[in-house]
Amino acid sequence: MNTAQLLEKLAESHRLQSSEWEALIAGQTPELAEEAARLARLAREPFYGKKVFIRGLIEFTNFCRNDCLYCGIRRSNRNAARYRLTREQILSCCEIGWELGFRTFVLQGGEDPWFTDEKICELAREIKSRWPQCAVTLSIGEKEETSYRAFREAGADRYLLRHETADTDHYQRLHPPELTLEHRMNCLRTLKRLGFQTGAGFMVGSPGQTPQTLAKDMLFLQELQPEMVGIGPFLPHHDTPFAKEPAGNGEQTLYLLSLVRLMMPQVLLPATTALGTLLPNGRERGMLAGANVVMPNLSPGDVRDKYLLYDNKLHSGDEAAESVRHLRASMAAIGYEVVTDRGDCAAVCKDGRETT
Ligand code: SAH
Repeated sequence: MNTAQLLEKLAESHRLQSSEWEALIAGQTPELAEEAARLARLAREPFYGKKVFIRGLIEFTNFCRNDCLYCGIRRSNRNAARYRLTREQILSCCEIGWELGFRTFVLQGGEDPWFTDEKICELAREIKSRWPQCAVTLSIGEKEETSYRAFREAGADRYLLRHETADTDHYQRLHPPELTLEHRMNCLRTLKRLGFQTGAGFMVGSPGQTPQTLAKDMLFLQELQPEMVGIGPFLPHHDTPFAKEPAGNGEQTLYLLSLVRLMMPQVLLPATTALGTLLPNGRERGMLAGANVVMPNLSPGDVRDKYLLYDNKLHSGDEAAESVRHLRASMAAIGYEVVTDRGDCAAVCKDGRETT
């Protein structure tokens, strides 16, 4: 089969075999990418129409016990100015976000032991009790099953944990020896089993990535069937071992967004901040490639330039209100509508049970 036929097969059957994924990924051309984007927009339409879901991202700590080679807040970066938001600061971000129409709050951070399970549970409970109609998403890394279960019981609805790469050797090139792909994948399976809407994903263009490793990523997603997939370009950070590595490719990121949408028509797929950082109008172009989620930053202004995973992070300097106004306008300009909605995955009920 040629690449155009492979694309058609993917759009119809939502799955491919390893060698087919590899050929489709390696065979990217501008024409093929345009066709993939067109088909991806068609695929999202019956489930999400022209809606854009927004998530309020609260980067509540940049302390991290891990040492991922790509990440600017890795523990060996002595130059990172570390911060933690207080409980009151976090709740005030939610308050501001709620007024602006956010119905999902994403608590993201490094793996910071100061935030014990009890503290995370208390936060989740408090947010859900003050704003019962919101969804709470956690993105705080690898934990024990008992911790994940406690977070779920405290009311957390979703969990983002990118697998980063589904190739063992590649995983080891990106991470220190104590972190393993096997453990990360087990965490993802546990999260799904506990009824979280679960997000996996990877960076595009991370050092050592090839069409073969990307094919493994697609096969892993095909098997896991996560409710959310986070994909953004790798962007170097000057204080990491990957400082001199080239950034990922924006066009390839857009193409992979389209392929993920075709594989999983109901998936929640953000146009990421990293994509917006790399490409002018990156988030709008992400929507046109099949994405349906944007995650504006609700963190207080004075800590935003400290949560630096990579250099030149998109940072309008705008207050949250101003940036949401811009987002609504720029999405409207391309025919999409930012909505005030929890924005659950079309494939699950709100209590986490699958409908299909
Ligand atoms: N500590 C949490 C949250 C990580 S930050 C966790 O382990 O899941 C969220 C994502 O940012 C990471 O999963 C990674 O894919 C991405 N990221 C980190 N450094 C990056 C870089 N230099 N360029 C692009 N994306 C990066």
